[in-house]
Amino acid sequence: MPGYDQTLQPFLWRAERLYPGREVVARTADGIERYTYREFGDACRRLANALDAAGIGEGDRVGTFCWNHHRHAETYFAAPNVGGQLHTINPLLPPEHVQYIVRNAADRVLFVDPSLLGALEAAYDEEAFASVERFVVVGDAVPETALEPVTDYDSFVGAHDAEYDWPELDEELPAGMCYTSGTTGKPKGVEYTQQMLWAHTMATLTPAGLGIDDSDVVMPVVPMFHVNAWGLPFSATAAGAKHVYPGPSPDPADLVSLVEEEGVTLSAGVPTVWLGILEFLEEHDADLSSLERIVVGGSAAPESLIRRYDELGVEVVHAWGMTEMSPIGTVAHLKEGLEGVPHEERYAKQAKQGLLVPGLEMRVVDDDGEEVPWNGEDFGELWVRGPWVTDRYFERPDATQQDFEGSWLKTGDIVTVDPEGYVQIVDRAGDVIKSGGEWISSVEVENAIMAHDAVAEATVIGVPHEKWGERPAAFVVPADDGVDRESLADELTSLIAEDYPDWWTPDAVELIAEIPKTATGKFDKKVVREEHADPELLAED
Ligand code: AMP
Repeated sequence: MPGYDQTLQPFLWRAERLYPGREVVARTADGIERYTYREFGDACRRLANALDAAGIGEGDRVGTFCWNHHRHAETYFAAPNVGGQLHTINPLLPPEHVQYIVRNAADRVLFVDPSLLGALEAAYDEEAFASVERFVVVGDAVPETALEPVTDYDSFVGAHDAEYDWPELDEELPAGMCYTSGTTGKPKGVEYTQQMLWAHTMATLTPAGLGIDDSDVVMPVVPMFHVNAWGLPFSATAAGAKHVYPGPSPDPADLVSLVEEEGVTLSAGVPTVWLGILEFLEEHDADLSSLERIVVGGSAAPESLIRRYDELGVEVVHAWGMTEMSPIGTVAHLKEGLEGVPHEERYAKQAKQGLLVPGLEMRVVDDDGEEVPWNGEDFGELWVRGPWVTDRYFERPDATQQDFEGSWLKTGDIVTVDPEGYVQIVDRAGDVIKSGGEWISSVEVENAIMAHDAVAEATVIGVPHEKWGERPAAFVVPADDGVDRESLADELTSLIAEDYPDWWTPDAVELIAEIPKTATGKFDKKVVREEHADPELLAED
């Protein structure tokens, strides 16, 4: 037995001692803020003292309603390391979800960005927020607000000492919490223990994970309210890397200028972020030479995106994960022996969700619970387990029973695995289209359509059909409004017909202005179905 538990505490301690001058940088409403690990450590301890004084200790939840910035990073280390639990809340969720989440988590202190005060006020309800003893507005003053009692961050921590003896913690102690923003039903809470966060951090540092080291300058674009920004604040600190936080609602110009000015080597975000930057680059010159790799996940990285960044000299590291997995599960690195393969073959591998990260186990099972062969063709549901995968939802025995089988998390992702072990998501369990008894991967058809230059975004859903059960229909946002709609639809139809079995060709290709998105930026197929799944759309056959 090791003599000491696995917690987040040593990561900060080591970063301060080994890299006292390495920087933590944030874009804020007042411009760029920058300080060193030494000062970051002091700020964390000051905040720890303030949390102590507010009575926060083991078992207490500290909520955050914030964008990506250095103060948010301070809560990442202070709240768990005093023994409390960092609960990041997604401010883009509908107010009733925020209300449900605060009531369910019973947060005692809530940190909120000034720019998000309105969203929190919209969710506020005296009874649902009864557990909240204090709101802390991140800044040096409190704007006009109905929330109370309220204080500003600087006053909350200001008078406190930068000396603090971190308590010895049990690794089983809950240290973090995040709710899945599921498109159906109530959000489900996932708790992260100290040990889960420690293990996930260590896995991300390995080459088979994200391979972060002290030469890196890490810029998480993925929000810090979404599964701890994929763990990057912890990983960057553990590695001694420089942190760069892009602040509230960064646009492509903000992100590109941070890359140029701070020398970002690694960044991470959902595909739409990277597509937005590519569009920006069409109109503007930029120097992205420091940027070595971008981690793309949350939804599938289209092959076209991987190719275009490769041409810019930036490696796309395609990763898959879930809130329930802290979140990283697979990463699409090139396996030994594949380095020399032709570009197109390489892109095809990178467009898969990738290889399981060491430390995890997986199974792919069909409807009868039998494991499917790793032949790149047979589909099944992906099950995973491991040291950073939860085995339950917070206070939700019903959902726990549905989504877990012992230590296995049933991910709801339908995948194939090729003989080399690359996992490819072909659909979410509810999105896969069944036509005449045969499965169609909506994701593959979407990706093929999105690879077309004239297409900005596309989604494919099953539309009820009398004869076939369901038929695919595509909803496409053209890259340029002035496009000839009919000929684009025809072109996309023939494109699919060329490359896929004929029953995969969508019966309808509709051009629309926008694809509805979830609070985490994914296509909201539930809304697409509600708005567009009209059998009359489908061509007669
Ligand atoms: P969340 O818990 O909100 O992070 O959502 C997790 C889900 O997002 C997964 O179960 C997948 O369906 C989807 N997802 C995450 N990463 C990817 C990826 N690289 N490609 C396709 N889907 C992904």
